[in-house]
Amino acid sequence: MSFSLHGISASKGIAIGRVSVLERSQFEVNEYVIEPGDIAREVERFNEAVRLAKTHVERLREQLPSALEEQAGAFIEVHMLMLQDAAIASAPAEIIEANGCNAEWALKLQRDTLVAAFDAIDDPYLRARRDDVDHAAARIQWALKEGLGGAKVDDSARHAGRIVCADDLTPADTVLMQHQGILAFVTEYGGPNSHTAILARSLRIPAVVGLHAGRKYLRDGDNVVVDGRLGVILVEPDASARVFYEQRQREIAAHHAARRRLLKEPAVTMDGERVTLQANVELERDATSARAFNADGIGLYRTEMMFMNRSEPPGEEEQFEAYKQVISTMKGAPVTIRTLDLGADKQVDGMRPGAPEAANPALGLRAVRLCLREPQLFKTQLRAILRASAFGRVRMMVPMVAVQDELVQVRHFLAQCHAELDASGIKYDSNMPVGAMIEVPAAAVCADLFARQADFLSIGTNDLIQYTIAIDRIDDEVSYLYDPVHPAVLRLIQTVIRAGHHTGIPVAMCGEMAGDARYTRLLLGLGLREFSVHPGALLEVKQMVVESHAGNLRRLTQRIMRAHRPSTRQSLLKELNDS
Ligand code: PEP
Ligand code: MG
Repeated sequence: MSFSLHGISASKGIAIGRVSVLERSQFEVNEYVIEPGDIAREVERFNEAVRLAKTHVERLREQLPSALEEQAGAFIEVHMLMLQDAAIASAPAEIIEANGCNAEWALKLQRDTLVAAFDAIDDPYLRARRDDVDHAAARIQWALKEGLGGAKVDDSARHAGRIVCADDLTPADTVLMQHQGILAFVTEYGGPNSHTAILARSLRIPAVVGLHAGRKYLRDGDNVVVDGRLGVILVEPDASARVFYEQRQREIAAHHAARRRLLKEPAVTMDGERVTLQANVELERDATSARAFNADGIGLYRTEMMFMNRSEPPGEEEQFEAYKQVISTMKGAPVTIRTLDLGADKQVDGMRPGAPEAANPALGLRAVRLCLREPQLFKTQLRAILRASAFGRVRMMVPMVAVQDELVQVRHFLAQCHAELDASGIKYDSNMPVGAMIEVPAAAVCADLFARQADFLSIGTNDLIQYTIAIDRIDDEVSYLYDPVHPAVLRLIQTVIRAGHHTGIPVAMCGEMAGDARYTRLLLGLGLREFSVHPGALLEVKQMVVESHAGNLRRLTQRIMRAHRPSTRQSLLKELNDS
């Protein structure tokens, strides 16, 4: 029987294929009694399964392509550490001895105890650790079930060529799965502006999030169509729906191919306004896509991705090499390196052991706040960025500034790093521009003040919308309120653009709104001339730019700004885009 499921669009595109359900937390395991004389053998069976699980993780590490070593390698490292932890590797053996039960049951009891302990704490960092426990325990269960004497243990490849359905995915899961060749993903939780969703768009994986009870309705092997643009999943589609979507897939591919003619064209409006189109990158290799799509530079390099899925943060040398790599890929085009934006939904291991748990992490010690609290961490990055600045046109951008003193302190740390590098005779660009991301309403309202302090501004709409409308960007329950054309958001954007113009410093936008072609004309009408978007959106935005007459957009843009009703704003936006 065919039916459809409706979630939230997170990444456009159509995928047609079979489902692979990622069931991390359930084991169908039975308990049986082990006679006293057989207990030692059962313990040895468990120990052998742990060894085998480690061998499989090791094999997975060896198979990783070098491009993914940094991100996914660290992820695998965490799994290896987990398999070496006594709580997973030894405690079940003690349960076998104490209870006289089978290895599977002992492991299930221990896994349930650990998971319950993590679940009781409402902290995203610890929740990620719970998932690590789950993954490690699942690997040992597989080894117990099929691996001893058999080959079918590591199921990580089973997602290849499939549509993955999961409760939730971390950004790290997404990177790993893209490497495994998944077609699309569907998650029960997560908002369309979560970092996982942003990553899906930049990796060009169709994705639907917020599909509650997805795993209740989707089964392994089901035939489905994922319509990423509409956020719809068709389960067991009939022949006509399948033909329709196959045709759509061909049309989209043809459309992409046709757009490639814009590759070499400059982004200039019909009335001659030059628009800068830069790229947002998360991983070093994204810079290659940015080049391939002829980006004018990198407008946002999210450096924190390098810090995820590993037990130790990368040192100065490793960061320097990564930045230098991106700079060299961009061959003289500007590269805007954002300083660490850790915290909230981007937690990393062991960053601040023993730190109190934040009740509202998005409003807590995040981004520049965390960096200023951890000078060692921050200065290591500043030195790496400065050293990289000797190799190209580097700009440094500070996320989430809310008070002016934060920029003062950043410049103070930079000056210390200048002195240290001078003392060691290391070259750097002493005039490296330092910009502020405007993503907190307080900074947007006072953009004129920040414009006097910063060398450039960049509007981060993902957070600006979250904080202006007071909606958690990763909470799908309130994502219906996430509205880039809310008058408050538009007024703030206009305020920031005007502040930049009055002060004579460049203003860019690097939030997702800049990469959504539905808003290109509106933003041009508001005076924006610098866009930074994920590489896959560059040509779509360029197409809108070259088909627009900037001078003619102002009147309708101002009408949208004044419209009271959401429906009026939407119809005016349509009129603007159709004009
Ligand atoms: C933003 O908030 O718009 C932004 C670009 O930063 P991030 O999505 O990494 O928070
Ligand atoms: Mg942000």
